[in-house]
Amino acid sequence: MQNFNYHTHTYRCGHADYNMSDEDYILEYIKMGFKEIAFTDHAPEKNKIDKRTNMRMDYSEKDEYLRNLNYLKDKYKNVINIKTGYEVEYLPNEEENIKELKNETDIIILGQHFVYDDNENLKIFGRCEFNNDELIRYANYIDTSFKLGIPLLLAHPDIFMLSCSTFGEIEEKITKMICESAEKYNIPLEINLGNIFGRVFLRNPNFNNLSSEQKQEIISGVRYPNRRFWQIASNYNIKVLYGIDAHSKGQILKYNELVKIANYIIGEDTINKLNFIDKL
Ligand SMILES: [Zn+2]
Ligand SMILES: [Zn+2]
Repeated sequence: MQNFNYHTHTYRCGHADYNMSDEDYILEYIKMGFKEIAFTDHAPEKNKIDKRTNMRMDYSEKDEYLRNLNYLKDKYKNVINIKTGYEVEYLPNEEENIKELKNETDIIILGQHFVYDDNENLKIFGRCEFNNDELIRYANYIDTSFKLGIPLLLAHPDIFMLSCSTFGEIEEKITKMICESAEKYNIPLEINLGNIFGRVFLRNPNFNNLSSEQKQEIISGVRYPNRRFWQIASNYNIKVLYGIDAHSKGQILKYNELVKIANYIIGEDTINKLNFIDKL
């Protein structure tokens, strides 16, 4: 089982468990035998573009975040390798601000939760419908961020399924564009376990005691990982890894069950075809 994870949030973003300290996440990782992890909380914005509250730390919290993580990195250095980082969204004209964050940390992951529309308003996945041009823009932003050398991995590449009801022609096109970029720039794609945790275990604390029909029903509500996306991805020469996207107490402890459900959703044939990496 993959014993590293590069996708961890903290209470500072405002929508992760407020009672979980940074150290509490580390203790869960150690309990589960992880050897290398990264904190990649939602990056603060110098120019406030994402106007939602409780989505990301404030710029003023950045120094304390890095200071505490560097303290913990040293404290646990003989047990687990801890990296500092951020989950960022690429936006045109924000390149310099993103590079500044990159220079201060070990790892930047791209979690492209939104794109601009034609009027420079944010279109956020899961909050509204996307037209075809906007979906293509999602794939283009990813490609540009790779070209600029921003992320070391792409989180939940199939998150666009939050705004798509079926997997049709345009979804297939976006998937191929993303996979071509990942192949070209050699950037691993993440099979994200966050939506599974939220839909399955957070909403149904007694999930394991339900009938298989009930379990099936719940799992069918998971929006990503998307089976079709990964079937197509398995035909490309790309690297993949799992990402916990930890926001909650106990989420890391569910790791083995989350991977099992992800593999079930994607299908064992596809999983066996995918090229899982040993280390970033
Ligand atoms: Zn989050
Ligand atoms: Zn995340």
